[in-house]
Amino acid sequence: MKINKTLLPAEKLKPLFENPLNLKFGKNFTDYMFTMIYDESKGWHSPEIKPYQSLVLDPAALVFHYGQEIFEGQKAYKSKENEILLFRPDENAKRFNYSMKRMFMPEIPVEDFLYYEGELLKLEERWIPNQKGTSLYIRPTAIATEPGLGVKPSRQYLFFIIMCPVGPYFSSGFNPVSLWVSREYSRAAEGGTGDAKTGGNYGASLAATGAALKKGYNQVLWLDSKEHRYIEEVGAMNIFFIIDNKLVTPPLTSTILPGITRKSVLEIAPDLGIEPVERAIAIEEVVEGIESGKVAEVFAAGTAAIICPVGKMNYNEKEYIINNNETGPWAHKLFDTLTGIQYGELEDKYGWVHKVI
Ligand SMILES: *Cc1c(COP(=O)(O)O)cnc(C)c1O
Repeated sequence: MKINKTLLPAEKLKPLFENPLNLKFGKNFTDYMFTMIYDESKGWHSPEIKPYQSLVLDPAALVFHYGQEIFEGQKAYKSKENEILLFRPDENAKRFNYSMKRMFMPEIPVEDFLYYEGELLKLEERWIPNQKGTSLYIRPTAIATEPGLGVKPSRQYLFFIIMCPVGPYFSSGFNPVSLWVSREYSRAAEGGTGDAKTGGNYGASLAATGAALKKGYNQVLWLDSKEHRYIEEVGAMNIFFIIDNKLVTPPLTSTILPGITRKSVLEIAPDLGIEPVERAIAIEEVVEGIESGKVAEVFAAGTAAIICPVGKMNYNEKEYIINNNETGPWAHKLFDTLTGIQYGELEDKYGWVHKVI
């Protein structure tokens, strides 16, 4: 569909960031946004690129009351040759639609999603920082806009894409984070929405994160909701363990968000010389393995950090130190390989990198 564009005169454009290495996550937005609306008679229609601006919504819009909302998180990278690169964007578009379906929202064809995102990126190219570690974060979002207080699926929706330049996740070096194992809270239950990127999951996680921070830990390690025993995720990232020289992660269930970084780590592992294993991992196995040395490394994986090493874990009021609280060799190797591919510095033999042209 043809995009209606409202462009600003050059003197109205925002000044660019000064030092992209100092950019805070999700605070500075680009000049433009993409929007498209849905109603029952017309389907998705009126795609628009316009100046970044506030939304005007009825206070009874269903998104405010019953949380019918979904989103994605992606990054655009600038290569040394000045190309705009996306990492597996088709996977984001597919997951976007998976989340849409789960929240009973109308899907957007993958090709359309990629086309609209690409058009916005080309217009906003100057906002993509080019130092290694920096990128332009992309936040596609869909919300229910029909006014009404009955609990029912909305008949009107808004899809928008906003973007913000971001600095490196690890601004003070690639240092491990600490985790607090939550036995009181759980993130998701079987048959719930844990495998969809829907806002409610994150709102529901904040009390646990607050408790972890209060105890002096950076993030929450989530266990399953039934037995509070099996490892699920870290904060909003997937988790990996190096156990007996194998790369081990929990299998995907309805309670785990299927991360694209997770999938890439599993696909790349055999080529880097380590066997990937997807199996249930009990918290006792982890803490005993840390003490005995069987668990050599722990790290998380997600678009924001790519790889996030874990140095400490508190379970049942006891602290366990992993790999001397240092970043291990596998975390380093996976981080270097994935970021190398993402910035177009390493050969992309998997066909993961998509050039926006
Ligand atoms: C987004 C997200 C991830 C990571 O997914 P990526 O596609 O790798 O960015 C993992 N867990 C949760 C809960 C998430 O929201």
